[in-house]
Amino acid sequence: MISVEHLTKRYGPHTAVDDVSFRCEPGTVTGFLGPNGAGKSTTMRMICGLTPPTAGGATVGGVPYRRLPNPGRHVGVLLDASAQHPGRTGRETLALAAQIMGVDRGRVGELLDLVGLDTAAARKRVRAYSLGMRQRLGLAYALLGDPRVLILDEPANGLDPEGIFWMRSVLRGFADRGGTVLLSSHLLREVEAVADRLVVIGAGGSWPTAPRRSCWPVP
Ligand code: ADP
Ligand code: ADP
Repeated sequence: MISVEHLTKRYGPHTAVDDVSFRCEPGTVTGFLGPNGAGKSTTMRMICGLTPPTAGGATVGGVPYRRLPNPGRHVGVLLDASAQHPGRTGRETLALAAQIMGVDRGRVGELLDLVGLDTAAARKRVRAYSLGMRQRLGLAYALLGDPRVLILDEPANGLDPEGIFWMRSVLRGFADRGGTVLLSSHLLREVEAVADRLVVIGAGGSWPTAPRRSCWPVP
């Protein structure tokens, strides 16, 4: 479960995230929708303790992310696939992360299969990967610790239509087994096909149809 309470981030005079509150429940996919620059990434970075909020806070399973011991075993995160280490192969990336998380190495091969990175792809260095391959590797990385919660920022970017369809079915299956998913996109069609609920965030803290609120849940 993810709980976001009055999260706010200001950069000098600029408000990147304006008083955003919502909850994500187990067994559901929550779509986090808003135009580019609306503050989706900043909100997700604050949930994961990577950006300190100006005000408000967030918890995952009742605890702030940074207080989770071995967070990868609780929360799978894909924030920016382009930040993956370019000099490592896909397999090395996962093997190293498995070691850090204390996950059985056998899971690396299983996940490479699940995300559709074949032996040749897994042996290539990440610098030679397309964005779609990085998203696949990022999802494998997020799932490695067998977490109960997934936080994914624009995971469909760079995926081909088959990849988008496949990712949806992975996320749907994850939620149907009781997992909690928070999934951002700037495209309604990408989230509406899989999300149980939408949280809509507007640029500058407003949205044309709801000028007083930056964020509201759609049942
Ligand atoms: P989204 O993910 O919805 O596209 P972001 O969270 O990336 O939006 O950005 C929200 C706003 O905050 C944008 O106006 C962006 O330019 C600004 N912003 C994000 N990160 C920083 C930063 N480190 N310094 C200054 N402004 C930032
Ligand atoms: P480091 O900062 O030394 O790279 P991390 O704990 O951040 O250590 O990451 C461990 C490994 O997982 C590194 O090889 C890193 O490149 C890789 N990694 C980190 N984030 C991701 C991601 N979203 N997708 C795939 N690999 C990642």
